[in-house]
Amino acid sequence: PSLSSPQPRPNVSEIPRYVAGKPPTVRPGLTSYKLSSNENPYPPLPGVLEAAQAAVAQMNRYPDMGATALYDALAERFEVPAEHLSLATGSVGLIYQLVQAFCDPGDEVVFAWRSFEAYPIAVTAAAATSVRVPVLPDGRHDLDAMAAAITDRTKVVLVCTPNNPTGPAVTQAELDAFLAKVPPHVLVVVDEAYVEFVRMDDAVDGIATYAQHDNVVLTRTFSKAYGLAGFRVGYAVAPADIAGALRAVSLPFGVSTVAQAAAIASLAAEDLLVERVEALVGERARFRDGLLEAGWAIPEAQGNFVWFDLGDRAADFAAAADAVGVTVRPFAGEGVRVSIGETEANDRILTLAREFPH
Ligand code: PMP
Repeated sequence: PSLSSPQPRPNVSEIPRYVAGKPPTVRPGLTSYKLSSNENPYPPLPGVLEAAQAAVAQMNRYPDMGATALYDALAERFEVPAEHLSLATGSVGLIYQLVQAFCDPGDEVVFAWRSFEAYPIAVTAAAATSVRVPVLPDGRHDLDAMAAAITDRTKVVLVCTPNNPTGPAVTQAELDAFLAKVPPHVLVVVDEAYVEFVRMDDAVDGIATYAQHDNVVLTRTFSKAYGLAGFRVGYAVAPADIAGALRAVSLPFGVSTVAQAAAIASLAAEDLLVERVEALVGERARFRDGLLEAGWAIPEAQGNFVWFDLGDRAADFAAAADAVGVTVRPFAGEGVRVSIGETEANDRILTLAREFPH
């Protein structure tokens, strides 16, 4: 490095790059679809566009930094004290803040891999160290191995349920057994970005779990089921001291006026939201069943996406999907994640999957 120019910390050059899902390729005469970012295919919920538009008129003013109305709406909806909540610029903002608030340089953060790609980015950005524990062959977290990976340097464990991109969710019994092994000073982050899509009898009850543990924090988002990915709103549910630490390191005014208004309006449209989530869950079952019938081994899918374990053929599959007007998310050398979207888009992938060698 040159001594004559400012240099970022050495870790900064080591930060892996976030690969965003590709936008759809425009092809004349063919409607294209984007199934590459686990977005919600539905238009805004009733009242959300109007609330957002009204908030736009306030653009010369800073947002309510206390976000009082949104905190109150969340507290009422989930029956938790408002001081147990912390908002952020998407739930990815919470992941950054948690690592920043709890890790000194060199401290370890344990997470499953493959999982959400922002984890190692947030960890490296904070000069902490990523400890990746391979997922089991069926895409589930290996919680025994994750507990065994905890050392004196471990400050945070990230549990992604359902796991992006492989799909399975952790059960309450698995989480309880894991928490019993985690030392009380280690923070356990349960990333519930896709919690609304989980359909299991023995699913984790995040709110009940955080309420029983001093070291558990839930992270959730308005980006997926609520369909507000473009507005960037996430929230943590945590014991008051942890929520307070998150608020302390949060970016001032990090959740815009428009985002706050839209989030409040979408909480008020819960009935239709539930209906839409139910339709996506149904579509997920139809899509995955079709793939199983066609002979694919698809892991259990508890989010709004399915995982194709394609190894080296991930790029070929993604190119073939693109050729039929659908962008999906390839993970080089590993597999392809396909979001549950419009029926027509899912059908195109089903047709392709029947023909693609597997
Ligand atoms: N956690 C997981 C597991 C995710 O897949 C995502 C989005 N891809 C996020 C968190 C972050 O979402 P957002 O920042 O939009 O809330």
